[in-house]
Amino acid sequence: MTERVGIFGGTFDPIHIGHLIIGQEIMLQCALDRVVFMPSGDPPLKHTMTSAEDRAMMVSLAVRDYPGFELSRFELSRSGKSYTIDTLRHLRRNMGGDTKIFLIIGADNAVEMGDWFDPTGVLNLAHVLVAERPGFERERVDPAFKSRMQFVETPLLDISSTAIRERVRTRRPISFLVPDAVADYIRTHGLYL
Ligand code: ATP
Repeated sequence: MTERVGIFGGTFDPIHIGHLIIGQEIMLQCALDRVVFMPSGDPPLKHTMTSAEDRAMMVSLAVRDYPGFELSRFELSRSGKSYTIDTLRHLRRNMGGDTKIFLIIGADNAVEMGDWFDPTGVLNLAHVLVAERPGFERERVDPAFKSRMQFVETPLLDISSTAIRERVRTRRPISFLVPDAVADYIRTHGLYL
C-alpha cells in the first residue's frame, strides 16, 4: 500500500502552534500517514541565531506525544546550505517506490518560491501542499508554480517564530503560542534573550 508522507521543513526557531496546527490539519485533510518535521541546518534564505541542536530539541519536545508527527535530523546532519531540492532527491532515492512525498509549506513560502534554488525541480519531486498564512494571498503566487501546487484550507494563524522571539526578548509570556515543554526549554536554556 502506498505510504503518504508529509515533509515539513523550516527553521523552527522556535517551533510554534502554527506549525503544529497546520501539520495536524494537512495530515487530516490530505490523508497523510505521517508528517516529518525537518529543521534546516543552514537555511539559504534565513539567518538563525539559535543552534541547530536547540531547534531540533524543541521540535522533538513538540512532536513527541502526537501520533504521526516525527522529527528528522537529516538536514542538520548535512554540511553546507540546506536546499530543499537536495533533501527531496535524497528522500526519493531512499524511500521506497511505494512512498508518495508531499512537501508542506506556508503561503509565504509559496509566494517566495521563485527565490528558491530549482523550484521546478522541487515541484517535480514532491506534491506541494500549501497552508494559508495571513498576508500571503494565493493570487500572489507565480502562476507557473501555482498550477502545480495544492492549496489546503487551513485556519489562518497570525503566529510567527519572529513574534515569539520578540516576546521572549521583551519578557512577555509565550504560553499557548508554543507547547509548554518548548516554553520550558526556551526558559531553561535562556534562548532569545
Ligand atoms: P520566522 O518568523 O522566523 O520567519 P516562521 O514562523 O515563518 O519563522 P518557519 O520555521 O520559518 O517559521 O516556518 C516553517 C514553515 O512553516 C514555512 O513553510 C512557513 O511558511 C510555515 N509557517 C510558519 N508559521 C506559519 C503560520 N502561522 N501559518 C502558515 N504557515 C506557517
